[in-house]
Amino acid sequence: MLRRCVSCRRLRDRSLLWRVVRLADGTVSLDDGMGRSAYLCPEADCLEEARRRRRLQRGLRCAVSEAILTSLQARLERSGPQPLRQDDPWSPRASGPGVLSAPPYGDLPE
Ligand SMILES: [Zn+2]
Repeated sequence: MLRRCVSCRRLRDRSLLWRVVRLADGTVSLDDGMGRSAYLCPEADCLEEARRRRRLQRGLRCAVSEAILTSLQARLERSGPQPLRQDDPWSPRASGPGVLSAPPYGDLPE
C-alpha cells in the first residue's frame, strides 16, 4: 500500500514510512490509531523539511507538538544513517594521483 511522504512527496510503501495520526480527540499520535494520517520518510532530510515547513501540521490540519518531532528525531538517531542516503561508495576518491601517473618509461636505457 503506497503512501506519500508529506515532505518529499515520494510514494513509498507505508511500512517504510512513519505514520503520524490525528486521533478523534484531536491529539496527535505516532504509528497507531484511527484518524487522519500524515506519512513521513524516516530520513533526516524529510524530518527537517517537515519541521521547518510545518508539513505535518498541514497534512493533519491541526497542531503537532514539538514532542512528536522530537521523538521522531530520537528514532532517527537510534536507527543510524540510512544506507540509501550515504555517499556513493564507488566514487573515484580512493584512487587519484598515484603510481599510475608517473611516466612509465623514464628509467629505461636508450
Ligand atoms: Zn520524504
